[in-house]
Amino acid sequence: MQKLPSLREARTEGRRAFVRVDFNVPIHEGQITDDRRIRAAIPTIEYLLAGNSAVVLCSHLGRPKEGTADPKYSLQPIRAYLEKLLRRPVGWIPEPSQLFPVSVGSVYLMENIRFFRGESQNDIEFARTLAHWADFYVNDAFGSVHRAHASVEALPRLLREKYAGFLVEAEWENARRVLTTIESPYLVVIGGAKVSDKLPILRHLLPKLDRLFIGGGMSYTFLKAMNLPIGKSICEEEQLEAARDILSTAQKAGKQVLLPKDSVAATAFQADAKAGIFPHVPDGFPDNYMGLDIGPATIEAARSLIQGSRTILWNGPMGVFEWEAFREGTMKIAELLAKETARGAYTLVGGGDTASAAEMASVADKMSFISTGGGALLELLAGQELPGITALLS
Ligand code: AMP
Repeated sequence: MQKLPSLREARTEGRRAFVRVDFNVPIHEGQITDDRRIRAAIPTIEYLLAGNSAVVLCSHLGRPKEGTADPKYSLQPIRAYLEKLLRRPVGWIPEPSQLFPVSVGSVYLMENIRFFRGESQNDIEFARTLAHWADFYVNDAFGSVHRAHASVEALPRLLREKYAGFLVEAEWENARRVLTTIESPYLVVIGGAKVSDKLPILRHLLPKLDRLFIGGGMSYTFLKAMNLPIGKSICEEEQLEAARDILSTAQKAGKQVLLPKDSVAATAFQADAKAGIFPHVPDGFPDNYMGLDIGPATIEAARSLIQGSRTILWNGPMGVFEWEAFREGTMKIAELLAKETARGAYTLVGGGDTASAAEMASVADKMSFISTGGGALLELLAGQELPGITALLS
């Protein structure tokens, strides 16, 4: 993984910085419910202001129909929020095609870039329009680097001077620690619901890791692949062969693999369903129950696997942690990882759900790094090329 051109190398004085940020945050009834992505971009913005640049910010929000200005997705609420965070006014750019002079030491925000035709198609003419706002380009939108869109890909290709903002740089450097400069033993803890989403990551990381713990909804496909009972737990039948393949490759390569030994299971997918703890051994798991969390025996086994690991990647919850009855496993794993971090392990936590889970367990600040990238991180972990990163390196 190549080093990215750093913003620290940019000549900022008296120049216009076009900064692609990721302000795609959840908004409920006009209120921003999670501002992590906005806060994550502040160091880059402050740095550019201190360097006496004019800062032009550009982001998407949601998925408006291409080329239509749906007020539901306007960036105006974010502008107001940003003004509070930065404690200064933020200028407004309603239309990228209507160029006006910007002042150094000031911040401007463009309306939702997906309102304009050309963004999602990575259109070069649209990128040329955007380029009129830029003396140099900065990408600090890690959550968007996997998209070949005009503000992420075509624009930096057009410009000679392009840099990674501090967030993108930090994400890249941290990803490097679980992809290339790994200190072993390397443990990957993977969970969540969708096996098909996570298989490319497992395939890419399998040769690098020493220990693997598969939990959460996806683990039942693996248990079933080993002919162990899972009752009516979530299972992707069409992925059974792929799961079997991964398990046998791991075994042949001498990797330590842990699958749930037991589950907290319920008779229905409901927060208050009748629940019990059952082992995944022949005749041990009832047909009419579904696993919704890892059980205590699994947590104990995970403890041994976590202890002594030097590099740990965690993606995906261990159960339906949104519901209190099925939260324990995810919380315990989060706590164990935080403890191992205090002992000197390097821990990267990635994926929106997983970051929320770490926060819920009050250990988010005890991990080495929490990634802000959902899809972008998953693609990076799966070994895929990220168009926004490639464009920075071009
Ligand atoms: P993903 O986006 O694939 O990482 O999946 C995250 C979601 O998986 C969370 O909303 C969890 O509630 C859900 N999940 C975790 N474990 C289970 C399970 N055993 N059964 C059903 N859903 C689960």
